[in-house]
Amino acid sequence: MLEKKVETFNMNRVIEDFEEMSRNADQVQIQTLKDILLKNQSAIYLKNFGINKNTTDPEAFKALVPLVTDFELEPYIQRMVDGDTSPILTGRPVPAISLSSGTSQGRPKFIPFTDELMENTLQLFRTAFAFRNREFPIDDNGRALQFIFSSKQYTSTGGVPVGTATTNVYRNPNFKSGMKSIQSPCCSPDEVIFSPDVHQALYCHLLSGILFRDQVQYVFASFAHGLVHAFRTFEQVWEEIVTDIKEGVLTSRITVPSVRIAMSKLLRPNPELADMIRAKCLSLSNWYGLIPALFPNAKYVYGIMTGSMEPYVKKLRHYAGELPLVSHDYGSSEGWIAANVTPRLSPEEATFAVVPNLGYFEFLPVSETEETEEEPVGLTEVKIGQEYEVVITNYAGLYRYKLGDVVKIIGFYNKTPQLKFICRRNLILSINIDKNTERDLQLSVESAARRLSQEKIEVIDFSSHVDVTTEPGHYVIFWEISGETEGDVLQDCCNCLDKGFIDAGYMSSRKCETIGALELRVVERGTFRKVQEHFLGLGSSAGQFKMPRCVKPSNAKVLKILCENVVSRFFSTAFD
Ligand code: AMP
Repeated sequence: MLEKKVETFNMNRVIEDFEEMSRNADQVQIQTLKDILLKNQSAIYLKNFGINKNTTDPEAFKALVPLVTDFELEPYIQRMVDGDTSPILTGRPVPAISLSSGTSQGRPKFIPFTDELMENTLQLFRTAFAFRNREFPIDDNGRALQFIFSSKQYTSTGGVPVGTATTNVYRNPNFKSGMKSIQSPCCSPDEVIFSPDVHQALYCHLLSGILFRDQVQYVFASFAHGLVHAFRTFEQVWEEIVTDIKEGVLTSRITVPSVRIAMSKLLRPNPELADMIRAKCLSLSNWYGLIPALFPNAKYVYGIMTGSMEPYVKKLRHYAGELPLVSHDYGSSEGWIAANVTPRLSPEEATFAVVPNLGYFEFLPVSETEETEEEPVGLTEVKIGQEYEVVITNYAGLYRYKLGDVVKIIGFYNKTPQLKFICRRNLILSINIDKNTERDLQLSVESAARRLSQEKIEVIDFSSHVDVTTEPGHYVIFWEISGETEGDVLQDCCNCLDKGFIDAGYMSSRKCETIGALELRVVERGTFRKVQEHFLGLGSSAGQFKMPRCVKPSNAKVLKILCENVVSRFFSTAFD
């Protein structure tokens, strides 16, 4: 059975191609840059910087083209969104524009999407699948329980299709055929994936998964957050699911006609299955091992589990029991960067090998002081142990584009670096000389959550805010927690959060009171779901959603949702 999949797909060949490419990573990079410049030589942006058909070597390119961020490119991309078909950033007009989740800035940002990005996506998926399938072979006749949601797509006033990168990939005519040999069919019908109501879609994904439970080979969501959210929802709706299965009638809460019709075709009364699921659910202790209990033939759970998804890994591991958690690859709406070629590593250890023909990559050293910016180095010149910001030049009109992600070089796979995602580069919490990143916030929350777990309570989600309306300004941390506890426990947690920021600037400012006491605000259950719904309303896709870890004053709506739902507040006494 497995051999058939390997035959059509040729796993060994894909692995060998990657081996070969990674052995020649330096040469492949030079060739890739040449190719990008050749294809886009008519782009106005490149011409403005004096790039012409004779510019083929990296040094000349770097001397002429500046490092940029999305801010500098915005006017160019806006022209493309407005329907200007002249060669602005790319040689040919782009077929679509991607909407990045943009939750960090409070608004989605536009990124060009091209056929080459589509090809890159397929290449990366094939590479990652080959390495994954070598370790965890799946049954050719199996299915996948995939929590995927196609977000809204619209046509800009300029006539260009705009959607999330995932939607642009799914809707590309080459996607279905390209994925056929490497993807197990979804349990859910297409109508569920394209449902306009994501809550109804999630319920139906869970129900479909159970109907095909013996065939499910793996469980997937783009992000660990999506997986945890799905199984937390299961805890609430499982009895309704069991009733649907027993009676063969879909609950009346599913109201989208196309979804009802498609799901009703899958259902018929099955009391035996219903009883089995009920017995399984009742036998679990605090839902430990829920995923393998529901899906006995699943080989692994798959999704992005690194970086800002780390806070969800503990809960996911609880649901997954002994099943391996396999980390999904590293990329962004701007393009794919690196594949997981060592899928057995746990999310905490996961690294990604840069695929050298997906773009021309530079790495900007991230210095401790950030006072002087060093020059970026090439893909094969990076140093093990050093942290860098990723700079991308790709086929879709991004040239020396600072992605804003910080990665750490862990080693090399042949000549190509293997990296670990660290955090978004932007400082998220800073009042004066203090500098705290998303990662610092995460570590502080982790340490305080350990205090809370002594009471058998978890942090469901969190965010932060810098409040400078007080004098002096102070950090505010919003927490949604899984149960009620004494005020003194939360006071301890609050102190722990304050002490958890070990940045020297923060600690000294706290000691000399130029930063006020950290404030912990506990919000009502369901508040973070409201925040997610707000972003979905703005066009983010449910699958691509990432919780904003810091809410800026400019993001007034989200701040309002959080502030309106505060049930208790604590001020740190850690530095009194
Ligand atoms: P988006 O553009 O909305 O697709 O988001 C892309 C961002 O998600 C990247 O720039 C990273 O910050 C983050 N990301 C993507 N892949 C990973 C990964 N494997 N581990 C951690 N963070 C990731």
